[in-house]
Amino acid sequence: MKFVRPAFACLLLLLAASPTLAGEWFDLSAPARVGVGKPFVVRIASRYPADDVAVEWRGRTVRVPLARRGESYEAAFLLGTDLRCDLGSYPLVLNVHLWATSYRFERTVEVVESAWDHETLNVPPKMVRPPKSAMARIKRERKLVRAALATATPERAWSLPFVRPVKGKMLSRFGLYRVFNGDVASRHTGLDFRAWAGTPIHAMAAGTVVLTGSFYYAGNAVWIDHGQGLVSMSCHLSKRLVKAGDRVAAGQPIGLSGATGRVTGAHLHLGVFLLGEAVDPALFFDGTIANEFNESHIISVESN
Ligand SMILES: [Zn+2]
Repeated sequence: MKFVRPAFACLLLLLAASPTLAGEWFDLSAPARVGVGKPFVVRIASRYPADDVAVEWRGRTVRVPLARRGESYEAAFLLGTDLRCDLGSYPLVLNVHLWATSYRFERTVEVVESAWDHETLNVPPKMVRPPKSAMARIKRERKLVRAALATATPERAWSLPFVRPVKGKMLSRFGLYRVFNGDVASRHTGLDFRAWAGTPIHAMAAGTVVLTGSFYYAGNAVWIDHGQGLVSMSCHLSKRLVKAGDRVAAGQPIGLSGATGRVTGAHLHLGVFLLGEAVDPALFFDGTIANEFNESHIISVESN
């Protein structure tokens, strides 16, 4: 059965630098409305072999190469809306270079509320508020993590759906409001999997390790750049099996699960980021995003 994509109807509405180019030279397709904390598929199609194709979204830029498909040149990639981003309309901007001229196309994506649950946790007070002595370390680590999450290499190493990092059940879902000892203290910016201490944790997709180390919150953790702005973070490991610079294949063990960092017990916390925006990892393991992305035909491009 042919998969019908309703977003297709409102496709290709472009504001071109030159009105004569609108919709004729470049098509930029994205959903008009996206829930907060969700990934979404963007497609570009052109009749011409534009180079230096860059897309701006919420202050960040990703460069994507166009692949030839028959008579046209296309790209499909993912962007996301951070769990904590303000609701409202944001511009999605396409900058292209064609025959020594730059063109800019823009459309609007509205970020709307998603539904989230609450989770109550009772933990020692020192786990809710880190001691003063840890503040310098936390600040230093935040800088390293921010740099790792800003990685946006143009080559896409991932394909959908992703490999589950561990067989264990999904526990705390992404987006939960966490009530620590009676106060809403944080949001859950990843997805927890059950993983008894020592269970091998696998890379959910191919990529390059950009950061590893022992962190105050994340414990032993591994960040992998999967390409085109997609970065994963695996936390609380008892042991790391890879180091920065290593190339990893989808399904390759990257560490053993554990209870390091700020945790109440052994499990895997998996974070998935698109241009630094924390999005729901669960959507990459079922058909939600995979169907829509793979529908773009880009995966069947003949390489010439
Ligand atoms: Zn978690």
